[in-house]
Amino acid sequence: MDSKVLQRITTELPSGTRLVAVSKYHPAEAILEAYQAGQRIFGESHVQELQVKQAQLPTDIQWHFIGHLQTNKVKYIAPYVSLIHSVDSPRLLDEINRQALRAGRRIPCLLQIHVAQEETKFGFLPDELIEFLRSGHWHTLEGVEIAGLMCMASNTDDEAQIESEFARAQHLFDQLKNEFFTAQPTFCERSWGMSHDYPIALRCGATLVRIGSLIFGDRVYL
Ligand SMILES: *Cc1c(COP(=O)(O)O)cnc(C)c1O
Repeated sequence: MDSKVLQRITTELPSGTRLVAVSKYHPAEAILEAYQAGQRIFGESHVQELQVKQAQLPTDIQWHFIGHLQTNKVKYIAPYVSLIHSVDSPRLLDEINRQALRAGRRIPCLLQIHVAQEETKFGFLPDELIEFLRSGHWHTLEGVEIAGLMCMASNTDDEAQIESEFARAQHLFDQLKNEFFTAQPTFCERSWGMSHDYPIALRCGATLVRIGSLIFGDRVYL
């Protein structure tokens, strides 16, 4: 854990933007070091790994789930997860609703949109998302609070392309805000930007940046 980098990122973020320290594949000790340096929001992308860490680390950590979430695993994290960034289907949103109500909670969720050129990225296409919101079904889901959008840009060195993808996400956010969420101040989050592209994301309205390797070093995939 590089506490200098952690501190530099935290101080350079504009007010209103928060850092999600992405700790996947890094041990609990590294998380605890960042915690002791003041970091409270951590992002994980595997349910089982999150379960183990959540059980052994301080209870005031806010755990954000950022990876692809299988519906059959929602029940494990529903009692404690602070924000699910990666809702990529109506079915998943329904299951989060069901498990949130069982746990007596309302879980904040972001809708993941697909703006990248790669085919492998999960998420709603912009038109699909608009259609889903127009259906109105989500109004009936009292266990979830749709708090904004999340996206990943293409994995490329082409900064202009990354910027155009984040700008598209920001534009879609504004459009959805106007059409569906004008009366809901809680629809406010834009989760974009990772270690290599977060400065671009900040120019495109990010309110949450998800940064892993810059803070924790390279991940070791076992
Ligand atoms: C791993 C991951 C990150 C962090 O990536 P880094 O390049 O290590 O900063 C951000 N977002 C998602 C969805 C991830 O899976």
